[in-house]
Amino acid sequence: MHFGGIYEDEVVGKMYDRRLMGRFFAYILPYRRTLVSALALLPFIAVTKLSQPWILKMAIDGHIVKGQMEGLPALAAAFLGIIFAESLLMFAQVYMLTWVGQRVMYDIRVQLFTHIQRLSARFFDQTPVGSLVSRLTSDIEVLGEMFAAGIVTVVGDILVLAGIVGIMLWMNVKLSLVTFSVLPLLIWVAFSFRNWMRVAFRQVRSRQANLSAFLTESLGGMAVVQLFNRERDEAKEFQRLNKSYVEANLPVITWDAALYAVVESLSSVAVALIIWYGGGEIIKGTLSFGALVAFIQYIEKFFSPIRDLSAKYSVMQGAMASLERVFTLLDNKEWEPGAVPAPKREEVAAPACVSAPQNALQSICFNDVWFAYNGEDYVLKGVSLQMKRGEKVALVGETGGGKTTVTRLLSRLYDVQRGSITIDGTDLRDMPLQQLRRRIGVVLQDPYLFSGTIAYNISLGDPEAMKRVEQAAAVVGADRFIRELPKGYDEEVRERGVNFSAGERQLISFARAVAFDPEILVLDEATASVDTASERLIQQGLEGLMQGRTTLVVAHRLSTIRDADRIAVIHRGEKAEEGTHAELMAARGLYYRLYQLQFKD
Ligand code: ADP
Ligand code: MG
Repeated sequence: MHFGGIYEDEVVGKMYDRRLMGRFFAYILPYRRTLVSALALLPFIAVTKLSQPWILKMAIDGHIVKGQMEGLPALAAAFLGIIFAESLLMFAQVYMLTWVGQRVMYDIRVQLFTHIQRLSARFFDQTPVGSLVSRLTSDIEVLGEMFAAGIVTVVGDILVLAGIVGIMLWMNVKLSLVTFSVLPLLIWVAFSFRNWMRVAFRQVRSRQANLSAFLTESLGGMAVVQLFNRERDEAKEFQRLNKSYVEANLPVITWDAALYAVVESLSSVAVALIIWYGGGEIIKGTLSFGALVAFIQYIEKFFSPIRDLSAKYSVMQGAMASLERVFTLLDNKEWEPGAVPAPKREEVAAPACVSAPQNALQSICFNDVWFAYNGEDYVLKGVSLQMKRGEKVALVGETGGGKTTVTRLLSRLYDVQRGSITIDGTDLRDMPLQQLRRRIGVVLQDPYLFSGTIAYNISLGDPEAMKRVEQAAAVVGADRFIRELPKGYDEEVRERGVNFSAGERQLISFARAVAFDPEILVLDEATASVDTASERLIQQGLEGLMQGRTTLVVAHRLSTIRDADRIAVIHRGEKAEEGTHAELMAARGLYYRLYQLQFKD
């Protein structure tokens, strides 16, 4: 089932580090004060770090070697004091940095979520939910890590490094040069690892997204998996994805460990060189014993931030890969139609229904509508349809003919490719989307309920709709079963309404449509999933719902639309027939045949 499912591209979109950091910087900017304070602590931290070996040198050369006891306790106390100060400073710095990091993550998450909300039905057709979830959660989590472990401490490390280099050179130039001889090799290694690591991290992130996409889908469809005994195959597919995730992680771990090992051995090489060369200097009398100890200490302190840097390096590379993914999604401007002003379009000849004499009465007009989900693969081919205010028009036809697509175009989930749809003479594309959607109430075939109370599911938290909850439930006849519930309107609906029957869920969604009081109603096979016994109930609900509204109803059961003002047969993307039930029956065409099929007994 999932073999061949749409998964994310391995490469999401490569961006240059400098651009990534530049964009990331914009998110940090609002918190620059805290950041500057944290940065301001760096020199002090560097001083506390740098002064420790120096105290050691003073103790050895000034007191221990000379056999002078006095002054040593003071030096020991100073040593303690400096370490204490360092801990305090580090605490303050880490706290401020993590604080900023959390804020930045919060901001990016909010921006990303509101961005995703504006994306089009087309986008959601193509993107697995789980992969979006992974960007909103784990990818942003990685950014936080970069902050906590990264950016400013890296600056701090570099400051300490610079200080150490200065002191070492000042203490002994030759000895320093011997130490630094290993550096070019180190720099070369770090640079050559960078690209490999990024490639590896990109794979890790996208495979994690695949894993999460698979999980969302598989867990959501657990009932189907269990009922069809697909557990083993699902588990196998999970293992495959899980394995490919682990395999993607292996190179990262390898590079990481290798970098650490290289830095570690190079630092040992430096110490070995110093013991050999510096030892000789002491014997010659050109170097003090304390200076050598301090030097070795400085080398330790010199390589420990480099070691740190190399550890942070992989965190940084991981964060960069995540940043790429987050920004790529933010750069996706596949807006929902209407989220941005409609593009200029060629003026078509005056729409047929607007120029007709009775145009004042005309409410909705499909004018030669063409539409394709993919490329040139037209699903609707020149559909024209007119509905007067208050009329009830039904769409019938074979599955896959394009009925649902017609309703989607009316609520502007997608835009028409040719032709136009107008409401009261105004093109949908010239209407603010929110206004359009306020005017249209849609009842889907499979009603979607959220976790929350029944009252919430009817009003969706809208203050105006909230006032009409009970009234709306009464209009569609949902109040009967709701009042019998232990908590009535406060009864909790669990995720997707699993604790209610299909009919009850449908009634709740009818009440929802009424509560928003739309002038136009779209019903897409609203009774298809309901048994005949509750259909009567639903039918009564529908009557209440349609009262006084212009209604476009897609019907599976032809019995439910016999009294429609007009019926249009949609066949393979075209309007094949149109008329009243009696007219179409008399015509003995497609409708007649559909009707015969349903009522042959
Ligand atoms: P109906 O509601 O009459 O059964 P639809 O309007 O749902 O038909 O579908 C019409 C055609 O469009 C079908 O061939 C279907 O496969 C295709 N289709 C529907 N929705 C999508 C989509 N989101 N992406 C691509 N093709 C789609
Ligand atoms: Mg349909």
